[in-house]
Amino acid sequence: MNALGRHILVEFYDCSPELMNDVVHIENSMVAAAETAGATVINSTFHHFSPYGVSGVVVIQESHLAIHTWPEFGYAAVDLFTCGDSVDPWVSYSFLKDAFEAGHGSSMELRRGQLNLLKRTDFNLDALRDVAQRPTDVPGTITRDVWFTERDENIALSLKHTGNQLYKKDSDYQRVEVFETLAYGNMLTLDGMVMCTQKDEYVYHEMITHVPMFSHRKAKRALVIGGGDGGTVRELLRHEQLEEVTLVEIDALVIEACKLHLPETAVAFDNPRLNLLVEDGIKYINECEDGRYDLIIIDSADPVGPGEGLFTAEFYKEVYRCLTPDGVMITQSESPRFNSGVFVEIYDTYKQIFGDNKVHCYLAAIPTYPTGTWSFSYSSKGESNPLVFDKAAAAQFSKAQGLKYYNEDIHVAAFALPNFVKELLSHGSQEVIEQYSAEPTNE
Ligand code: SAM
Repeated sequence: MNALGRHILVEFYDCSPELMNDVVHIENSMVAAAETAGATVINSTFHHFSPYGVSGVVVIQESHLAIHTWPEFGYAAVDLFTCGDSVDPWVSYSFLKDAFEAGHGSSMELRRGQLNLLKRTDFNLDALRDVAQRPTDVPGTITRDVWFTERDENIALSLKHTGNQLYKKDSDYQRVEVFETLAYGNMLTLDGMVMCTQKDEYVYHEMITHVPMFSHRKAKRALVIGGGDGGTVRELLRHEQLEEVTLVEIDALVIEACKLHLPETAVAFDNPRLNLLVEDGIKYINECEDGRYDLIIIDSADPVGPGEGLFTAEFYKEVYRCLTPDGVMITQSESPRFNSGVFVEIYDTYKQIFGDNKVHCYLAAIPTYPTGTWSFSYSSKGESNPLVFDKAAAAQFSKAQGLKYYNEDIHVAAFALPNFVKELLSHGSQEVIEQYSAEPTNE
């Protein structure tokens, strides 16, 4: 070859937007395209952007293959660069055209480093050579860097995963996926948003359950709306005093995905005290009899998609109606910093329905949730006060049950709010919201 390398610039058109947004499929295809052409793959780094688009590179002994996709155009720009004669990049081209189901592709080959334009300078190779092979690398193994990213305008959370997609199905309501992350174990996402991970789910599930259960000791009947991962009912069913726990989850695929890939979270789905219903929680609460539940927990996702209706005054008024006179409503109430506008709005709504001094906010640190600080609301229909509880019983329970986050001290500490949260809750004007919100308030 009269050049150091061959560089094929490729345009793939009319590809399925689905595939152009599937980081796992694209990464696997790019690695396979290199190997099929006879290349030795060193490592791969791929990033899935939210809301869509993938970028990645496969480093090969013979140079690299790179890609960036625009799912919205069904388009991919691909670079196939190989040096030496042992690898035929056109083999990779045909492989990828099929793998991406491209309607058509156009390409241009450039010879890079034309030898007649290059002048070799003799130099001491040893002086240049650095330790190429990292001692940890086992020959023949590929280091794969495949990243899941949940991002908003100004904030992104990226988690490296193995590249093996454990679960991916579209229900009538949302895309249900499970990724095998390296830092947090298996992770459930809905429409690209992190719902829970094996390594930190206990924070959310222990705080959304044990705080109300220790400050509302007479509770016998509990209702959970949402919560299809199973973590909230797992924690509730630790409390023997509960005679009946009802879980109303709209999406059967969430339950299926968690039974398969987050078994510790889904462990209580066969508990005889559990009444598991797959239906819309809004319909269920509208048809529910007055005063049926001592505790109602709204374990919803964010106020988008099927969960939007779970953040309305109409819905909360129905919850209030279905509580016993001394009943308590607990909700996951978003992040005071990430979506300050929603945070202020829903607390105003709780106060209008339950009364100003009957609504309390508590916080917990959840690493894989936006900003890492998440909040829960505690609204009492009767006189139940979250800070009036049997500390010794809480301490004994936390120890006996081997809880990883909840104990009698964190129960109290969680209600000690930083000033900016107090300000958002006391007079959450647009000005205050803009002052503290990490995200543009679009107002
Ligand atoms: N901890 C998570 C969070 O804060 O983002 C939420 C966990 S849980 C997985 C949320 C569940 O609410 C999802 O499984 C979703 O399908 C369910 N859900 C959404 N809208 C619903 C509705 N209208 N009725 C019942 N369940 C609903």
